[in-house]
Amino acid sequence: MTTGNINVSVENIFPLIKKFLYSDHEIFLRELISNATDATLKLKHLSSIGEAKVEYGDPKIEVKINKEKKQLHIIDQGIGMTAEEVEKYINEVAFSGAEEFLEKYKDSAKDSGIIGHFGLGFYSAFMVADKVEIITKSYKDEPAAHWTCDGSPTYAIEAHDKTERGTEIILHISDEDTEFLEESRIRELLVKYNKFMPVSIKFGTKTETLPKPEGAKEEDPAPTQEVENIINNPNPAWTKQPADLKDEDYKSFYRELYPMQFEEPLFNIHLNVDYPFNLTGILYFPKLGQDMSIQKDKIQLYQNQVYVTDNVEGIVPEFLTMLRGVIDSPDIPLNVSRSYLQADGNVKKISSYITRKVGDKLNTMFKNNREDFEQKWNDIKMVIEYGMLSEEKFFEKADKFALYPTVDDAFFTFEELQEKIKDSQTDKDDKLVVLYASNKDEQHAYITAAKDKGYEVLLLDSPIVSHLIQKLETSKENITFVRVDADHVDNLIKKDEETISKLSDEEKESLKTDLEKVIPTEKYTMQLEAMDSNASPFMITQPEFMRRMKEMQQTGGGGGMFGMGNMPEMYNLIVNTNHELVGQIANTKTAKKKERLIKQSLDLAKLSQNLLTGEELTDFIKRSFEMIK
Ligand code: ADP
Repeated sequence: MTTGNINVSVENIFPLIKKFLYSDHEIFLRELISNATDATLKLKHLSSIGEAKVEYGDPKIEVKINKEKKQLHIIDQGIGMTAEEVEKYINEVAFSGAEEFLEKYKDSAKDSGIIGHFGLGFYSAFMVADKVEIITKSYKDEPAAHWTCDGSPTYAIEAHDKTERGTEIILHISDEDTEFLEESRIRELLVKYNKFMPVSIKFGTKTETLPKPEGAKEEDPAPTQEVENIINNPNPAWTKQPADLKDEDYKSFYRELYPMQFEEPLFNIHLNVDYPFNLTGILYFPKLGQDMSIQKDKIQLYQNQVYVTDNVEGIVPEFLTMLRGVIDSPDIPLNVSRSYLQADGNVKKISSYITRKVGDKLNTMFKNNREDFEQKWNDIKMVIEYGMLSEEKFFEKADKFALYPTVDDAFFTFEELQEKIKDSQTDKDDKLVVLYASNKDEQHAYITAAKDKGYEVLLLDSPIVSHLIQKLETSKENITFVRVDADHVDNLIKKDEETISKLSDEEKESLKTDLEKVIPTEKYTMQLEAMDSNASPFMITQPEFMRRMKEMQQTGGGGGMFGMGNMPEMYNLIVNTNHELVGQIANTKTAKKKERLIKQSLDLAKLSQNLLTGEELTDFIKRSFEMIK
């Protein structure tokens, strides 16, 4: 037996390791299984080039718990180590690696910005164990070695009679970490970190039901047997070539990734590059609702099939964090803070590659099957609209396929929309006017009024649409968006001829005075206008600018800088002096009756804008019953 001192400059590295990233103790298992996987894949490589004269077969990694002895075993059938190699790799290389790592990260360790904690490697075992043993037999014709270290910087190494090739790591789990002796906890970790590792991982057994033997009776139970339980799928879909995968394969991989998710994805994008960086993965577009925040952080980041994190902020552009799926890249630095990550050249390239791929896919879908694309639009528009707002490159691409649905379910691209309205919908300044609604029910009266005149009305109902409109108005020329209830359509869109007023100027003046007696002018700006006789007599509108700024403020950014935090509720009240009812009001002799008619008309206008509530509504209903009785 040899004993020796581990070559460390730090007085005693173990207490440091033990304390290191306390909350992240669990990563020791990922590290040890990564080592076991590396050792197995190295053997595969050596045997394939004829360097190792061994039968590679179907090697497995086994994880075993011995609760009585408080031991956790990780056993591989990989390349193994000779005693000399243990000296070199474990005592020198691994240790200096661990030391360097700790030196570098002991301050930033608390910084939650660090995404993974790779690099600590083998020595992370000491985060959970008082004593660690390695029993290892190299593929070379040399005796096995047994290394023991109890957490002080001294170790012992001696010969061992192990004959099968490979390495067994034995962790003597410390009293504070007995959770790692629980089967359910280990299973949870294996599923979390190793679900798609390239070498099969065996943990425990499972019961399999066998077919009943010939002639068995109905009531006889089917025979069962205990079989080994493999935790992982060593060949996940993203590691395969797109040409080898069918639609169903992508769907079943989605179910594998999200076993609790019952809704199927809409479509997927297979990522596969090896230059100038290495990246594979599959992104899925799920059906998205209106709430952005709860749908984020479903994409999983892997490195060579080892799970790293499900927070891909900084790697995937913000608007795509609403997608699902997997990204696997060895070229993403892991032991760095988020801000450093975002400045990394490779990461920037990766981010723009992903954006481009998503744009291309959507474009192809739009071109190849427009009808299908239209059908999916409502489920995917959030991502696209958000992307158009936040990434200029994506905006340029998406501008060709982004759709603008009408209230009647027709879909236009921006170009088509422009073409459609260019002769019929312009304002006084010859700007194109895009009329839109945000809610078909709430703005029904206004939509109908616009449609009756033959105008197109879009239905734009995403929560971020006010921002998008703002962006479109500034990046396109000569176009303005107005919600249908922002004003009377006749005031929004230029008409060929002026309507002649049925009331004289004096009549108008006296009507105005009458109206002002009943209508609170601090809340309503009154506009007396001669319009079509069949247009609504009283109509409440809210100017586009004010309303939009308010909306933008509610959904973040934009409007905030205008300092409109406490904008008062201001409305316009348009009174159509050409309407029969308004003429009648003007000619009513008794003041009381006049007042009642004005009040009733105002309430009806409010009702049409969903503004009549509470006591006002109760009074209105009471009054209406009185009137019809
Ligand atoms: P890293 O894996 O980053 O090189 P580690 O500290 O985890 O650092 O391991 C140090 C070295 O010890 C490895 O590079 C490898 O040569 C050797 N090693 C660790 N675990 C095993 C194993 N299960 N089988 C064979 N060699 C191993």
